[in-house]
Formats: sequence, structure tokens, C-alpha cells
Amino acid sequence: MTKEKNGKKDIKSMMPEELEKEFELVGLKRYRVFQVISWLASGSLSFDEMTDLPKELRVYLKQNYKIINSKIAKKHVSPDGTTKFLLELPDGNCVESVLMKYKYGCAICVSTQVGCRMGCRFCASSTGRFCRNLEVSEIISQIEVVQKSENIKVSNITLMGIGEPMDNYENVVKFLKIASLPKGMNIGARRVSISTCGIAEKIKEFADERLGTTLSVSLHAADDCSRDYLMPINRKYNLDCLMKFCRYYILKTSRRISFEYMLLDGVNDSKRDALKISDLLRGMIAHVNLIPANNLEIDSFKKHIKPSSAEKIEKFAKTLLKLGLRTTVRRTLGADIGASCGQLRARSLSL
Ligand code: SAH
Repeated sequence: MTKEKNGKKDIKSMMPEELEKEFELVGLKRYRVFQVISWLASGSLSFDEMTDLPKELRVYLKQNYKIINSKIAKKHVSPDGTTKFLLELPDGNCVESVLMKYKYGCAICVSTQVGCRMGCRFCASSTGRFCRNLEVSEIISQIEVVQKSENIKVSNITLMGIGEPMDNYENVVKFLKIASLPKGMNIGARRVSISTCGIAEKIKEFADERLGTTLSVSLHAADDCSRDYLMPINRKYNLDCLMKFCRYYILKTSRRISFEYMLLDGVNDSKRDALKISDLLRGMIAHVNLIPANNLEIDSFKKHIKPSSAEKIEKFAKTLLKLGLRTTVRRTLGADIGASCGQLRARSLSL
């Protein structure tokens, strides 16, 4: 956890039990922790606002802790209602969050890192330099700042913004635990989806946490040769290894995995590719979510790859359905405002 030069601790990155320990040491009652947590979850940015706390406690908090916040640097609203935020963190780095409004409520897609080191060929997040992991508080503050700005309460969270969540594993797991606190944001793990490019050993660790979060795996290719080309992580954890840990996840959690599959023309969208997916996922409780690729202004899209046509996507979906796989095609929300992860940050860095 980051500490400021003056030694103040980042209170929003702390678990209740950590705070309780510290409060006990200075003779404070444990129940005060949950009062503070409720204030923080309501978006409070100053200890002075916490008026139901004794004055001495507010002074103690101010002297020892800081409240991390982020600022809205840019906001783009798409005609379909999707809103994309470029958020500035306390150190000046920027990340993105996307708010989507559905009939059932509001879902937010948040970032977990500043940049990404996974190097997927089709993703704008990899074009920006990798800077650092986000602190727990910085993941939380994306939700808070958007809720405040739009005057809404988020009901669902997806960890599919900039970054690879499993590459910032500890902070992400802590975030999931803090977000689900009933006295806090109260967004239970079942209303959170986490997406990974396939850091296999972390999928195992995550299964053992038994949090109940929905897991998405970005598959995008069903043979090692194509996947090595599209996603360098495959050279470390090939499909055999990835599938072994996915099976472990399903066995341990009894939850299905959603496999994300972006269709790229002539790369992964043939009938043979559909058959390979079917072989790969045989016997697994799985769902295939086909993603129309966003044509980005990045080198790979300019030179080597291009999105599959809507007709090809439909044909591919039908083939998978015929093969007995649960398949959906993702609605593309916000493509016109650059809502693919990393696009807005890449533009702000003029990449
Ligand atoms: N690192 C994580 C989460 C971030 S990306 C992961 O890889 O899963 C969120 C999703 O957007 C992933 O499925 C990713 O593959 C997809 N994505 C990235 N670039 C895209 C593009 N140009 N068009 C469509 N989807 C894209």
C-alpha cells in the first residue's frame, strides 16, 4: 500500500480488519470502523464531513490517513447512452472507465492498471506504456467519481478496462472484498465480472479464493499458432495449460466461464475455427461471447488485421450454436466514442 511522504495511509485500500487493528491500538472502538467505511462508500472526500464521529476521531483520521480520489479529465457520451470517462489519478496518470445503462441497472467497466504489459495485438491498452498497478483505492474511486458525476448507483462491475486484472492480483482480490462489504459499496462478487487474457496460475489461485465472481477468459483463438500471434501470454501458458486451469476453476466454483472471442477476418473466423472452439470447450460449463472487433487506429489494425463482417459473425455464431455451444454476440456499446479498453488513454497520450 502506498504511503505519502508524510506517512499518511491510503484508507480506502484498507480492509476493515486492518483498520480495526489500528483503531484498537489507539483505544478506539471497533464499530467506528464501519461508520468510517459507510462515509467512504457514500463518496465522502474529507474526514471533516463525517459529522457523526467525535471531533478527536476526525482529527486522528486526518493526521494519519488520506482519502484517494480521482478527477474527471474527459467525458464522452455516446448516442446509445454509454459514457466513457478518462479519469486522472492523484499522480497525474490517467485511466478509463465506461458506464453502461441497462434495463436492470448501471454497469461500470473499470481499469486495474495504468497501461498493460500483455501486448495483445488488437488491444489499445498495450500501445500505451505500462506504468504501474492501480491501488485498491484507485479502482474504487473510479466507481465513486462516476456515481457522483451521474447521480446514479452502480449495480454491476466489470474489470475489463485498461490492464490485466490477474497481473495486479492482490489489489484486485482486495478490491472485490472491499466492494462487497454490506456497510460499504455492497456490490457482491456475483455482480462482478473479471476478465483475463489467461494468466493460468492466477486462475487457479482465484478459484481457491471462492469469491463467486463471474470469470471471463479472453480466448480469441482456439489453436496455439493463432493465439501465440494474437496474444503473447499464450507463449507462456498455452491453450492446454489454460484449459486445464479453466476446468479447475469450474470444478472448484461450479460456475461457468464466459469465453470472449473477437472475430478477425481470415484469422479466427472460419468454420474450422468454430470446430476447434467446440473441441477445446468440450465437456465444460462454458459460454462463448462473440465480440465484433473494434477497428482501432493502431498499427496492427492498419497493417495486419481487420474486423470480420457482421454476416461472418452471424454465420460463426450459428455454427457454434449448431455444435451445441451456448453462444451470444456482444452488443457493441460505445464503439463511436472509442470505448474499447485503452483507446481514450491512447488518444490522450497521442499514440
Ligand atoms: N486484460 C483483460 C481485460 C481487459 S480487455 C483481458 O484480456 O481479458 C477487455 C476485453 O476487451 C477483452 O476480452 C479484450 O480482448 C477485448 N478487446 C481488446 N481490444 C479489443 C478490440 N479492438 N475490439 C474488441 N474487443 C477488444
